[in-house]
Amino acid sequence: MKLGGPARWLAEAASKDDAQELYKFATDKNIPFLIIGQGSNIVWRDEGFAGLIIVNKILGREVLSDDSSGVTIRVGAGENWDEVVGRAVDNGWSGIEFLSKIPGTAGAAPVQNIGAYGAELSETLVEVEAYDTQTDSFGSILNEACQFSYRNSRFKSKDKNRFMITGIILRLKKSLPEPPFYESLTKYFEEHGVTNYTPTSVREAVTAIRAVKLPDPSVVANNGSFFTNPFVNKEHFEKLKESYPDIKGWPTPEGKVKLAAGWLVEQAGFKGIHDQDTGMATWQDQALVLVNEHGRKTADLLAFKQKVVFKVDELFGVVLEQEPELLP
Ligand code: NAP
Repeated sequence: MKLGGPARWLAEAASKDDAQELYKFATDKNIPFLIIGQGSNIVWRDEGFAGLIIVNKILGREVLSDDSSGVTIRVGAGENWDEVVGRAVDNGWSGIEFLSKIPGTAGAAPVQNIGAYGAELSETLVEVEAYDTQTDSFGSILNEACQFSYRNSRFKSKDKNRFMITGIILRLKKSLPEPPFYESLTKYFEEHGVTNYTPTSVREAVTAIRAVKLPDPSVVANNGSFFTNPFVNKEHFEKLKESYPDIKGWPTPEGKVKLAAGWLVEQAGFKGIHDQDTGMATWQDQALVLVNEHGRKTADLLAFKQKVVFKVDELFGVVLEQEPELLP
């Protein structure tokens, strides 16, 4: 977002040993520390951080097993996620092609169980390799123990800051992606005459759709989706439907209904808004993306966010939650 204050120290961990050494350095000297990937999903507070930022740069990729149904691969936590997807797709392996063009590192992917177009990382993740600061040891956390849920995991909730993720192991398939697909993908395939669904054609479609709808963070300061999709109970949804017949909602196995945060923000009148008070805007093609046009402070961003949250709550009785993490 091009916002936030400076950090006192920053160090890069290029190996597991580096990660452990930096952790020990910080704890021995009683220095607060934070571990980050590429920072693409972080909002930094204006006051900065009087501690050590450890940037996870642990690279590496290897095929652990390969058989007729699929492959198992290990990826270093510091690898760029989209490059991991690109290499998988080039090899004809499927499972993560729907997660194309999501910014950030491979190690950050399990933290919020990244998802897009109906797929999520938890479907292909076998285990997470990590340094456990509680036990001072390296180990593996199997998928079942990661407590994955919708855009969430134990690494983001109860065990936040406990583990330094050093790598992830994925199981990818050699079979082809199968419909039904999300409406936007189906539309893209129809419009482009694509009937051959492969990891490559899905990646191309996702890449093209995202390029049209989302601003490139290297050009326009943004954190991607700024709010998570909210869940309401069925009664709440039915009531909203009376006033907003076009509202979309997807029932969940837990008996709730998932709403599209972007739709709510748009209906609240915030699509393509340029807020002169704060210097913030919402993206013209996707209201869910907040953009820093000429704001100087994180406080400006949070003030603008509050305007959006307030209006959506007033209209729909739904309190939107911020998706990017506010640090420190
Ligand atoms: P979209 O296709 O316009 O759909 C809007 C919302 O409706 C999405 O949030 C999606 O939920 C939900 N949705 C659409 N079809 C659905 C279906 N068949 N079943 C259940 N839910 C459905 O969304 P978009 O904004 O262009 O984004 C497309 C995909 O990329 C979405 O999956 C989105 O999560 C992902 N994305 C993520 C980020 C990020 O920064 N985290 C940024 C951009 C896009 P879900 O979000 O649960 O899929």
